[in-house]
Amino acid sequence: MVLSQRTIARIIDIEGIGLHTGVAARARILPEDTDRGIVFVRHDLDGAEVPAAAEHLVEGNGLSTTLARGEAMVVTVEHLLSALRGLGVDNARIEVDGPEIPILDGSARPFVELLRAAGLRSQGKARRYLTLTRPVSVKQGDKAILALPANDLHATYAIDFPHPAIGSQVLAIPLTEDAYVAGIAPARTFCLLRDVEAMRRRGLALGGSLDNALVLTEDGVLNESLRFSDEFVRHKVLDLVGDLALLGVPLRAHLIAFKAGHRLHAALVKRIVADRRNWSLCTSDEWLPAARLAEFAHLRERVIPAQAASIP
Ligand SMILES: [Zn+2]
Repeated sequence: MVLSQRTIARIIDIEGIGLHTGVAARARILPEDTDRGIVFVRHDLDGAEVPAAAEHLVEGNGLSTTLARGEAMVVTVEHLLSALRGLGVDNARIEVDGPEIPILDGSARPFVELLRAAGLRSQGKARRYLTLTRPVSVKQGDKAILALPANDLHATYAIDFPHPAIGSQVLAIPLTEDAYVAGIAPARTFCLLRDVEAMRRRGLALGGSLDNALVLTEDGVLNESLRFSDEFVRHKVLDLVGDLALLGVPLRAHLIAFKAGHRLHAALVKRIVADRRNWSLCTSDEWLPAARLAEFAHLRERVIPAQAASIP
C-alpha cells in the first residue's frame, strides 16, 4: 500500500511565550493542501508566507532555526517542525502574529500532544520521500554529519560537552513515529546559566526560564529532574528532525552526527539539495535495492563510534 500525504484534521491554537523575545507568542495550525508542505504565515504582515524550505533558511542567532522570505521572518521553528515531521504531518499552514513560535516547555512534547488531540487526516495523494542516492557529508572543525542512503530514517548522534551533567552521550535510534514520540519529543532544550546572562545582553533568551529549558550551572542542573539520563543528546536529535523538515518532504537516510547543531544541520540540508545527483523522490513502496545499500555499509562501520555500535 502506498502511504498518502497527511494534514491535521482540526485547527490547533497554541499560546505561550517566545524564548528569545520574551513576549506572548501565538500560533494557529491549519490544514493545508497536498504538495504544499509546511508553510508559516505572518498574519501581522499581510499574510506573508514563509515556506519551511532550505531556500528560506537564514543565518539567525545560531541558537535556533530562523526562516525568512523578504521582510517576513519566523524564528524558533525547529521544535514545532520536529513534532510535525515526527508525527508524519506532510502539509500544514502555521499562522503567527509575530516573529516567534511559542517555546512551551522547550521540547516537542506539547506540540505532539496538541497534534495528536486534533488528529490527522489522510489526503489521498501519495507521499514522496527524499531518498539519498549517494553519501553526503558536512564538516566544521571537529563537528560532522554523514548521511548515508537508506530505506528508512535512522539517527546516530554523539555529543561531548565538557560538563559533569553531560559529558559524552551517544544515541542510536530509528526515527519511527513511536520511537520519536516516546524517546525524542519530550527532551528539552538546554543552556548554560553563564551563557544566559550573555544572551540577555544581546537581547536573546529573554523568555528563557526553568519552565522551558534545562539550565546548567558549572557543575550541575538547576531543574529538579531530567526526563532521560541522556536528555541532552535526545534533544539534539529532536532539533535534527526539525531542521531536516526543511527538505520539504520526509527524508530516508541513516544520519551519523558528531557534536553537531543547528548550523551543521542547516549545512547538511543545503548540501543535499545543492546537487540534484544526491537524491531521488520515491513513494513508500519504492526501495533502494539491498545490493546498493550494501555498498555503504563499510562507511557506517568506519564512522560509528564504538559506544554507539554496541547499541542495538
Ligand atoms: Zn532545540
